Amino acid sequence: MPALIESPKLMQSSNLEAPPASRSPDRLIFTQSNGFRMELQHRVDAFLESTGRRPRDCWQMYLKSAILFATYGAAYVLLVFFAQNAWQAVPLAVLLGLATAGIGFNVQHDAGHNAYSNHPWINRMMAITLDLIGGSSFVWRFKHGIFHHTYVNVTGHDTDIDVGILARLSPHEKRYAFHRWQHIYLWALYGLLAIQWHLQSDFYEVLKGRIGKMRIPRPRGWDLVVFLGGKAFFFCMAFAIPLCLHSVGIVLLYYAITAITIGITLSVVFQLAHTVEEADFPMPAPDSGRISNEWAVHQVETTVDFARNSRIASWCLGGLNFQIEHHLFPRICHIHYPAIAPIVESTCREYGVRYVAHPTFCAGVASHYRWLRKLSKA
Ligand SMILES: [Zn+2]
Repeated sequence: MPALIESPKLMQSSNLEAPPASRSPDRLIFTQSNGFRMELQHRVDAFLESTGRRPRDCWQMYLKSAILFATYGAAYVLLVFFAQNAWQAVPLAVLLGLATAGIGFNVQHDAGHNAYSNHPWINRMMAITLDLIGGSSFVWRFKHGIFHHTYVNVTGHDTDIDVGILARLSPHEKRYAFHRWQHIYLWALYGLLAIQWHLQSDFYEVLKGRIGKMRIPRPRGWDLVVFLGGKAFFFCMAFAIPLCLHSVGIVLLYYAITAITIGITLSVVFQLAHTVEEADFPMPAPDSGRISNEWAVHQVETTVDFARNSRIASWCLGGLNFQIEHHLFPRICHIHYPAIAPIVESTCREYGVRYVAHPTFCAGVASHYRWLRKLSKA
């Protein structure tokens, strides 16, 4: 029988590092490394060193952040203060939604993983951008950084694949009769994701001290200040300031257009990485909580890349099209993922670890559709 160690202990190495130890009482255990993880880390570290690439504090990341903040600011000011008619306001609302998603994909996501900078205060500051655009960096730290990243696609532990009874994303979830249409109606529900975040789920999860079935602590001290301050800032930007200039109906209409753009963009991009036909959904042994793979193999086999050759996708999506590399190396700035992907892929082939990449964004969308349709059936 292979030796077993708990997952968080696997994550103490330099760049091949996942989130901090889970506070969940339901901690799972991964099989001990068979050498794949160490070899991968050695090769990627050697590549970064030999090419003089800095894992964090990359000028490309600072420049990209400035472009995204400027786009967000310009779209907001033009929409709220200058737009005269729907022909101007609708494209600006869509642009504002895309810029918001861009800040989420690129800036707060890297910062939340401490992949933005070597300076903790810069990571904290950039992670707080999520609070300013309507989310919560506190909730995200648990939901994404710990539950999703540690226990990818493990039903009952990865809160990203738990959407309640609305749909069945995992084959281990209960099927309800109305799920037979989920591959059709779920796309519309994706549009409501950001509205739910803004108005309901962050408050509900913090008050309840749970995300799905997983427990989280309640924010205290600085975390509480950021949570409440961020919500106050967002509600001022989204509703209070626009209401000084426009009617309630107009404010709600353009809030909805912006939020639906954010919701669809975030949902579709995140779903292409894990809820597709090629991703695994392993379950731990019921008595011991053991996962049959080592942590790094689990990350690769539950994750799928897409559109790796598209420079536009890679720039806009914050490297989320290189999700395998992101899950293995969440503390490396995403701008390096296209360069390290061939190293990861060849190491996987050598060690017999299944590595899947969809050639295009559309191929990923089609696979997500087929997966939803497959799980819609009994
Ligand atoms: Zn992540």
